[in-house]
This record gives sequence, structure tokens and C-alpha cells, in this order.
Amino acid sequence: MAKYDTVIRNGQVADGTGRKLFAADVALKGDRIAAVETPGTLKGDNEIDARGKVVAPGFIDVHTHDDTALIDNPTMAMKASQGVTTVVCGNCGASAAPFTRSDIGHFLTLIVKKQANIAKTFGEFATKVEAAKPAINGAFLIGHSTLRMNAMGDDLARQASASEIGVMRDLLDQSLEQGAIGLSSGLFYPPAMAASTDEVAEIAKPLGKWGGVYTAHMRDEGDHILKSMDETFEIGRRAGAEVIVSHHKCSGRPNFGRMKETLPKFTEAMKQQQIAFDVYPYVAGSTILRKEMLDRADKVLITWSDTVADVSGRDLKDIAKEMGCSIYDAADRLQPAGAIYFMMDEKDVQAAMAHPGAMIGSDGIPFDTHPHPRLWGTFPRVLGHYSRDLKLFPLEDAVRRMTSYSAQRFHLAKRGEVKPGFYADLCIFDPATVIDTATFDKPISPAKGIDTVLCNGAIVWRDGKPGGGRSGRALKRQDLQAEAKASA
Ligand SMILES: [Zn+2]
Repeated sequence: MAKYDTVIRNGQVADGTGRKLFAADVALKGDRIAAVETPGTLKGDNEIDARGKVVAPGFIDVHTHDDTALIDNPTMAMKASQGVTTVVCGNCGASAAPFTRSDIGHFLTLIVKKQANIAKTFGEFATKVEAAKPAINGAFLIGHSTLRMNAMGDDLARQASASEIGVMRDLLDQSLEQGAIGLSSGLFYPPAMAASTDEVAEIAKPLGKWGGVYTAHMRDEGDHILKSMDETFEIGRRAGAEVIVSHHKCSGRPNFGRMKETLPKFTEAMKQQQIAFDVYPYVAGSTILRKEMLDRADKVLITWSDTVADVSGRDLKDIAKEMGCSIYDAADRLQPAGAIYFMMDEKDVQAAMAHPGAMIGSDGIPFDTHPHPRLWGTFPRVLGHYSRDLKLFPLEDAVRRMTSYSAQRFHLAKRGEVKPGFYADLCIFDPATVIDTATFDKPISPAKGIDTVLCNGAIVWRDGKPGGGRSGRALKRQDLQAEAKASA
């Protein structure tokens, strides 16, 4: 018997750190990378030929709403097909746990949709995820809006009282103890809009104690974005938590070009405290359908509607014309619904992505009938379109922004590098052909050029289809910290 389970031969390794590509064989034993050595020197029971390909760490999708998708859709083809081996869930203030009462279920939770799989405690939710044996790993944030619904029911259009803040803080504390990795807020959305800075800063206090991160879909990504950045940074400082600004964008035509203001502001603030942000590689965003957002978008496409049939994928203007009403009235009639909003400037998107503080997150919404193409296309698009074709950054740096840097920012110990002792999360891709194929017209379409994807040593994507591997895990804070400590 050979010393190793699998050897990946003849590939060029992009190890995740940004180091230049180098020729090496990568050996796996169990769920770990066991050796990275000179080509031809390692022997395995199985071999994967990676000639002409790049062997990279599996990508970490730092911004997702895949909480319940890991349970309902455990092959996770929309992510495994892109080379993603870990998803960070519970973003934008909406998480699938904890739900301590049954009389709640605001609209926003439709983002994590399947109500059957929400759970009373985070611990219970993590157990459900593991029982589902997903193909890839999940790490989980606790949503501030979710906490609000627990403490305040449907009475959300006001500030929380001191005792309600106490309830939310305790629930966060308990969830972090059970393994959540941080708190997310979505002050942009109705369930949390009325929350003050003080409310979030008070609730966030347990982050300091447990070493959790704070991610923010900021209150305003348009006209008042600079003020919102200050608010976000302040909450992080007061909680003693590292900050990650979600899907950084300057939204709405009047704000095009304002990366010239926000990026230097990030650079300055990063000297004072730990701050990073994520970006998706598109000029359109997507979320629930909101009338307030229609004016800032050049074009709006409907992604789903629970009340009107056959509107998914269509332009709201055309739907309104057919209904013989304004787009605002049409939006009312479609509710509850989701939409894609074309509201960013291409130059801004590129500037954000190339900033030293930027990592890649898809923000894909897994249950939409006609989803934004980012759900299936984000990572190959960054590699093929932005790195190879537009030369926005070298391939090694593109990989770093999807792997080691992301793992460091979310404290995902032993993930994100091709290095002995690290978990065998790997993506083997063809650098000459890798590209997204998902479009706004045809969004459900696997990328090209992704050869083989492994998660914890098991093949989860190969030759254009799921590989059968189901060894993904719920990555829990305490396990990650123990792992980091052991290797320190
Ligand atoms: Zn968001």
C-alpha cells in the first residue's frame, strides 16, 4: 500500500498565500493535506493528473445565505461547481438560528427560506447541518434581525428596550458558545432599520469575549455611505470585534465613482482597527423586492414572486406595462418577491475588488426561481474574466482573495492554503479556460474549467457533475480556535 490515499500529480500549485505558481505534487491522507513535494516523488493509492491545471485551496465563499441550503440541497452543486468548499452563512442580519418562538417569520427570513429547517438554538441547527452530510463546509454568523424577531416578535419598527437588548445579547452569547463564529447585521432592512448604533453595539458585546467577527450589510450603501462606514467601525470597536463590511458597493447612479471616497476611508480606518470587506463581481445586486430601491436602479429583474406566476427573470418595467400600472404598483402586486437591481458602476466594482482589503463573496440567494448569476458564477468569473482577461490582479492574488485571506479574516483555522497539515479542501482548475457561464438570462449554469473539487479529502465535483463526496462539516468556533491554538 502506498503511503498516501491520493496524490495530485503534475499540477502548478497556487498555495493560497499569493506565492507564485510552482510545480509540485500534493499528497492527501484522510481529510488532510499530508505533503507538498517535488513532482514525481510521492506515491498514492489514487492519483489525479493535474497536468496543465492549477491546484488551489478550495474557495471560501465568505458571503452567503446558504444556511438551510446545506440541509435541503446537500450536494451544494451551485457552489461545489465553482470550486467552493466552505460557505459563510447567516449574513445581512438573517440567520436560520436561533428561533426561540414560533410566531415569527418576517419577510427577511425568506432569504433563508425553508422554515422547516430553522432551529431553536444554534447548537441544534449545527447538528441538523451535520446530519444532512453536506458536500461542503459551513461556518455560521448569527443575524441581528433574527435576534430582534426573537426578542420583539413582529413589533420591529422601533428601538429595542434595555431588557430586549439583554435577551438578544444573551442569545448571541449562547450561540457563540455553541459554535457560531460571529454576528451579522442588516440595518438596511426593515426588521432592523429602527435599531440604533447603541443597540447593535450593546448586543455585539459577547463577540469580544468569544473572539467572534462582526459583519455588516450597512445601513446605507448610497448617499450616506461614509456615515454608515463610521457607524459600522464604531460597533466593531465597542464590541472589541474585527469588522467585515459586506458586499461593498456605491449604490445608485448619483453615487457612481464614489469608491474614490470609500476606499481611502477604508485604508485609513484599517490602520486603527481590523477591517476588511467582501465584493461580488457584478454591477447588479439582488435581494427582496423593495419599492424604496426601485429609483436607484437602472433596471430591475424579478427573481421570484409568491403571488404572480411566470414573472421570474422578467423586467419589472415590462410586467408593469402588461399590468397597466406603475412599476411601484406592480411591485406591490408581486409581493412577497425578490429582485435583481442594476445599480453599480463597473469601474467601482473593479476598484473595490482590487483593494488590499477585499475578499470575494457571492451573496448568492439559493432558493430564487431565477437567481442572480453570482450564485453559480462568482469565483470562476473572478478567475477568468477579471484576473485572466482583464488582468485586474494576477491569478495568485485572485486565489489569495478567495482562500487564505478569507480564512484569516473569519478565523477558519487550517483552511485556505495548500500546505501539509491543512484540510484537504482543494480546487483543481484549468487557468486557460476557467470562466463563469451563468448569465442574467440563464443564471443556473455550472462554470467551465473547474476540473476536480475536494472537500475534507472527498471529491465533491468532477467532470462537470457532483462527485458524491459528502464530508462537509459545520465549522464551529470552539473547534476552530482549538485547532489554531494547537498549531500556534
Ligand atoms: Zn446584504
